[in-house]
Amino acid sequence: MIRRIDHVSIAVRDLENAKRFFCGVLGGRELYTATEAGEGFRWTAIGLGSSCALELIDPVGEDSFLHRFLDRRGDGAHHVTFQVNDLGDARATLEARGVPTFGYNDADPNWKYFYVHPRHAFGVLLQFAELDPGAWTEALAPAIAATPQGTVTSSAQEFTPEQIAELTALVEPDRFSVGASNRELHARDISPHRGELPAGVIWPLTTGEVSAILAWCSDNDLPVTPWGAGSSLEGNPVPVRGGLVVDLTRMDRVLDIRPRDLQVDVQPGVLRKELNRRLGRHGLFFPPDPGADATIGGMIANNASGVQTVRYGSTRDNVMRLVVVLPSGDVIHTGTRAHKSSAGYDLTRLFVGSEGTLGVVTEATLKLTGLPAHHLAATVPFETLEGATEAVAAMIGSGLDPAALELLTPGIIALMNREAGLGLAEAPSLFCEFHGVSEAALAETAATAEDLCRQCGALSFRSGIDRKARAELWRARHEALETIQRAHPGKETVIVDVAVPISTLPEMVVFSQEQVDAAGVPGFVFGHAGDGNCHVVLVGDPADEDEWVRIEDLNQRVVGRALELGGTCTGEHGVGIGKRRFMAAEHGLGYELMRRIKGLVDPKGILNPGKIFPD
Ligand SMILES: Cc1cc2nc3c(=O)[nH]c(=O)nc-3n(C[C@H](O)[C@H](O)[C@H](O)COP(=O)(O)OP(=O)(O)OC[C@H]3O[C@@H](n4cnc5c(N)ncnc54)[C@H](O)[C@@H]3O)c2cc1C
Repeated sequence: MIRRIDHVSIAVRDLENAKRFFCGVLGGRELYTATEAGEGFRWTAIGLGSSCALELIDPVGEDSFLHRFLDRRGDGAHHVTFQVNDLGDARATLEARGVPTFGYNDADPNWKYFYVHPRHAFGVLLQFAELDPGAWTEALAPAIAATPQGTVTSSAQEFTPEQIAELTALVEPDRFSVGASNRELHARDISPHRGELPAGVIWPLTTGEVSAILAWCSDNDLPVTPWGAGSSLEGNPVPVRGGLVVDLTRMDRVLDIRPRDLQVDVQPGVLRKELNRRLGRHGLFFPPDPGADATIGGMIANNASGVQTVRYGSTRDNVMRLVVVLPSGDVIHTGTRAHKSSAGYDLTRLFVGSEGTLGVVTEATLKLTGLPAHHLAATVPFETLEGATEAVAAMIGSGLDPAALELLTPGIIALMNREAGLGLAEAPSLFCEFHGVSEAALAETAATAEDLCRQCGALSFRSGIDRKARAELWRARHEALETIQRAHPGKETVIVDVAVPISTLPEMVVFSQEQVDAAGVPGFVFGHAGDGNCHVVLVGDPADEDEWVRIEDLNQRVVGRALELGGTCTGEHGVGIGKRRFMAAEHGLGYELMRRIKGLVDPKGILNPGKIFPD
């Protein structure tokens, strides 16, 4: 019945102002504006890019139907339109299932519609519309020409023989390939997002080589995408315009460990686990810990973090200095080896999290931490999900300083039990870890944590887990995503990665679980609760349009609630391709400033195009 989600409507207070923002600032195109005097509202349709349309509605009259039917809570997305093949049929189907419809309108030759106001979709109205085929898409098509500054227009899936000769001359011949398998290996990360097969892959060894490669791409107006371990979850390293992939994995030297400064200089291709193995000999480690064995360059580019962020911070908090090659081929140094500096803009933190869209990191100085002398892990099942999330806020609020505080819901625990034989209670649970200088200090911490958890409805508090069992537990937690994927062969996963202020985590997690239960798709809620990061892993088949629409809708609703709570659409996985559509809502005018920075640093838009910003 439903073909696809066609557009999202947003209620605004001042239509003209809203139009100025979406057309002027975000580069949208006004399609048409109308005043519906009878119904008491004015509206306009704005085309954004080639496939996204927004409808801005100003319900000027107090008794307009929007006021009557919507549970209005200030400005926000108000209704979602589903385009259907046959409006009459869609209406009859819904009515037959006991879903009342209203507002039926078939007076306009170009489009007919009706509304549904499902009680569970708080504040959101569903509109089912049958459009004159092509009317909407034709109106949107010219917007493709409005290429934003800093977005490359060229695309390359094959290099010419001259280009191959020139690229081969920049490195040794065995470090440049146009072979099909190498190109395919650099076309996909772990996400369902697809791009364009790159024309070739190159493996530099030095900053000088990276500089020559980027200068060559700039001279030839060719897209170029940096590549680490390819373990991203949002299409971050997936080339969307073919071109050249710069694989940094052979730049994998640990250059200088300085234990007395608690610092290390590395090349970007060194893998996190190998680095920590080498640092362990000095009693040190680099704490940011995404589940995968990522490269340091990929972690810097995505601002990766993980289970220990609650205590040690994200990658951004642990990077001091970078060497970066700009798209022009120029080499800059950002930051210093001093622990503090007030010298101007913080360029290091601009490049951290820029997902390879501003420059290629070729060297980094990382901040290190001493390996903890003693560990204590605990597993804590709760009566309710609310209780588990409240215990998180209570432990953080009491200054317990956990090293990890992970929340898991019964569905994911059941899968982990099945795979790893953990024998855990299949109840909403926390996995906690504490680091301390002595066993006595840890015992005191555990007693306080247990007390707080029991006040929030903990069913038990199992601590004192031995080293082997602790390693098993964390291995199973790190492999949660793979476990879900293995349990659903042939399916794709969409990962919601919202983060919210810690006090609102209970509301966020409960809302997410309710949405999963209502949507009727396999979904698993868990996350790095200690830093307010809530993941919802949704499983489905993109070929099943109905299921995929429900998944995308759920994704949108969970992100929408996170933004309402003052949070973010991505706590750690980055924007890549998958989270681009939430950026304007999260950042407003700040998103335009980001786009200008991109245009300034990369005026030709050659570096990792189509990431963070629309292609
Ligand atoms: C099972 C699993 C669990 C995961 N769990 C987490 C988690 O808990 N937390 C988390 O944060 N992430 C997690 N991830 C995602 C992923 O591991 C991280 O985002 C990681 O930082 C990606 O690093 P990479 O080396 O694979 O980089 P890639 O995926 O190859 O690239 C990532 C981005 O960095 C850019 N890039 C790579 N190298 C450079 C460079 N030298 N200079 C400039 N740009 C560069 C790429 O263009 C791309 O935009 C998980 C992934 C998997 C598979």
